[in-house]
Amino acid sequence: MAGKRLYIETMGCQMNVLDSELVVGQLLGKGFSLTNEMTTADLVLLNTCSVRDHAEAKALSRLGSLKKPKNANPDMIVGVIGCMAERDPDGITLKMPHVDLICGPGELNKIPAMIDEIEETRERSVALSQSLSRRSTPLERANEYDSVEALDLSRSAGIDGNPLQAYVRVQRGCDKFCTFCVVPFTRGAERSRPPQLIVDECRMLVDRGVKEITLLGQTVNSYVNQDDGKAVRFAELLERIDAIAGLERLRFVTSYPGDFTDDIFHAMRDLRTACEYLHLPVQSGSDPVLKRMRRQYSVGQYIDLVDKARDIVPGITLASDFIVGFCGETDEEHAESLKLIERCTFKNIFVFKYSERPGTVAAKRVTDDVPDDVKRRRNMEMLQVQENIAIQTNRGLIGQTVQVLVEGYSKRAIKAQVAETERGQEISSEVTGQLVGRTRTDRIVVFSGETDLVGRLIDVQISGATALTLHGEVAGASGSSCGTGGLVSINVS
Ligand code: SF4
Repeated sequence: MAGKRLYIETMGCQMNVLDSELVVGQLLGKGFSLTNEMTTADLVLLNTCSVRDHAEAKALSRLGSLKKPKNANPDMIVGVIGCMAERDPDGITLKMPHVDLICGPGELNKIPAMIDEIEETRERSVALSQSLSRRSTPLERANEYDSVEALDLSRSAGIDGNPLQAYVRVQRGCDKFCTFCVVPFTRGAERSRPPQLIVDECRMLVDRGVKEITLLGQTVNSYVNQDDGKAVRFAELLERIDAIAGLERLRFVTSYPGDFTDDIFHAMRDLRTACEYLHLPVQSGSDPVLKRMRRQYSVGQYIDLVDKARDIVPGITLASDFIVGFCGETDEEHAESLKLIERCTFKNIFVFKYSERPGTVAAKRVTDDVPDDVKRRRNMEMLQVQENIAIQTNRGLIGQTVQVLVEGYSKRAIKAQVAETERGQEISSEVTGQLVGRTRTDRIVVFSGETDLVGRLIDVQISGATALTLHGEVAGASGSSCGTGGLVSINVS
């Protein structure tokens, strides 16, 4: 495979971003190099998402645009990996017969061998994990964890190209079967990785300069595996990772409200690296809707959990996910969600318009009966309520000094840099000097500063605020710097 160029595009969630990193790591080890030119690459991989109809339509459109280049260069290998590959392999081959490789998210370690096979036979290669058994318990299944990560010693650290931050998977799959969700079908049963492998990987990343690690799992707080015959649960895993010297910050996503235990809050309060931020998707503020979604908690239980988080972990911020327009959702039920947003004062929320996914319980048993314009209106209303809350909360921070990990240039500065370089103009130092950092509570702070601050923990005094961003001035350094080594760039959309 030496000398061949790989183009990879990633759609969807952080799980997919990490999966792409792992695939890239394996293929770089096989002699591929990365390219940003899709149409002239030797291997094109689309890492797909099935959570919404829109994401699948986008993947199909990208695949459609590859027909011409593939005709011009029949040796080009076109691959679909990730959730859509697992969910609908037949649909993909029917609509896009030029696809050579189809690989589900649980089979990614087979990709190098699949490419060898395609080059040899010129036949399509398919790897899916459709028969993952759920008869055993999560603890028993953890012993069968099929680790793509273990193969990946050549992986570069970095989230979205940032060498200071990295994702580490602790768990695959999900056992919850929320009625709207396709994940249990595409990513299979819940399996947790052995704790020692996770700790070793975190240590390796910290040795490479990573300061902040985000642990990933579909329901990360239900993590369980065995060590020396003893069950290791999530709070203990956090404790073991926290002991790694040089690690500054530890985060985790996504937590399932129904499984959250107090020991995790205690770990968040007591551990040096555990950040005071929790992403806790609720999906709806109405009990009947939660029931139809088969979320295994009530609104009251969710509120109790939020209150407990604030009682135990001082200064914690919370984020949540909502679905608007789920089957049968009435205006009154939607109003309950707005009330919950007001009650919980989230730092931010992610709102999704319900989109029916084939194969899910909701697709089989309930009707997607909320008109699209109503979903759109509810979506806007929700974002408006949240925006008002976020502006007020953020304004309350003006005058305070916060510690940030400096991540790099702000998006605005990068855009200006690209545009002005393309126009052959000099870049204004006022814009390029705009750095961006993140607080332990996951707030974004933009401020002026020199590049040598990147990778450092510094104090910034807040002088302005919008709903999503804080602005401030450097008040002082509070930590060590770190190297910014080479990166693997992955196209994320
Ligand atoms: S908890 Fe529910 S929404 Fe989350 S991945 Fe599992 S089934 Fe999907």
